Amino acid sequence: MNIADKRANRITQLPPYLFAEIDRKKTEVQQRGVDIIDLGVGDPDLPTPEHIVRKMQEAVTRPEYHTYPSYAGMHAFREAVASWYQKRFNVTLDPESEVLTLIGSKEGIAHVSLAFINPNDIGLYASPGYPVYQVSIKFAGGNSYPIPLLEKNRFLPDLDAIPEDIKKKAKLFFLNYPNNPTGAVAEADFYEGLIAMAKEHEILICHDAPYTEMSYDGYRPMSFLEVPGAKDVGIEFHSLSKTYRMTGWRLGFAVGNRDAVQALGKVKSNIDSGAFEAVQAAGIEALTGDQACVDEMRIIYQRRRDLMVKALNKLGFSVTPPKATFYLWIRVPRGYTSAGFATRVLEEAGIVITPGNGFGDEGEGYVRMALTVNENRLKEVAQRLSDLKF
Ligand SMILES: *Cc1c(COP(=O)(O)O)cnc(C)c1O
Repeated sequence: MNIADKRANRITQLPPYLFAEIDRKKTEVQQRGVDIIDLGVGDPDLPTPEHIVRKMQEAVTRPEYHTYPSYAGMHAFREAVASWYQKRFNVTLDPESEVLTLIGSKEGIAHVSLAFINPNDIGLYASPGYPVYQVSIKFAGGNSYPIPLLEKNRFLPDLDAIPEDIKKKAKLFFLNYPNNPTGAVAEADFYEGLIAMAKEHEILICHDAPYTEMSYDGYRPMSFLEVPGAKDVGIEFHSLSKTYRMTGWRLGFAVGNRDAVQALGKVKSNIDSGAFEAVQAAGIEALTGDQACVDEMRIIYQRRRDLMVKALNKLGFSVTPPKATFYLWIRVPRGYTSAGFATRVLEEAGIVITPGNGFGDEGEGYVRMALTVNENRLKEVAQRLSDLKF
């Protein structure tokens, strides 16, 4: 029996893994003895703050946390989320019905379509974007429809340009600000238009917001839920991964419209058994404890951003410093494709960056650089790039 032939269409029809070629080349370059600098993955290089780790050490010894967690998450964690939203965004949430604990927000994003998409329903997703949006819609049997984020629109979707029949048929819309990969941000006027469209066409908005705390120059990104009417049409995904450098811990949450939160909860209760309660205890410490670690993070990434943007612009690139996220979205030099440029930078400079088309066709012509190495390494990146002639 050929097991590979038995695989479901949802697996075999996944778009080709665009990073496979980069991964192969990375290994090849590494084997030549080159000191690789990896700016490919959006994973914070700084450790989880100490007070959170200490809380986990204490929590893990407690037998009451060793049993199956509650599906929706510990009440105390959901309360911590609600009070964090109140304090940070002035958004009031009912911890019982409007907050759902997730095993990392990726999990919730991947599962939410199962609650809303029937076979052949249309799901909208911003492109370039987090690849999970498209996969979520497709795994539920839906048709995924890209909404382009263009530089001339400051990487915000042009809602008026979405065809009427698509709006009519669409069930949900995934989007994300502050944005990975472009670094773009959205303000109230954009969200107001989005909510109006959602109301008119009955589209569930799935706003993915893990980067609201990773912002610079005193700028404070807003939550989609701050805008009047948001709770009638949507939910927001959030995560402790980026704010508290906890990517490995797997803790996130979905908040907002109670029917959407309940529906996602229903899917999850049939698939998983909730996040480890010791991790949730550490999450409470993160959300309610000393927030100095978040300020520290902003200072570190802002310095890296300033260093790298300046260096790139000196080399003839044209990069605007992003107000948020730890990504630089860089237009490739004339004559290059995204993959062509990323390949040359890897082969000749030993630097891993992500080709923009890995985030969707609309990302072609760009590369993404994650600022996940220290300033000395970034200086080395600038030096190596200046030795290449584009
Ligand atoms: C990092 C990231 C997430 C968060 O993922 P977790 O599963 O919570 O670690 C979600 N969306 C985007 C766009 C991200 O970049």
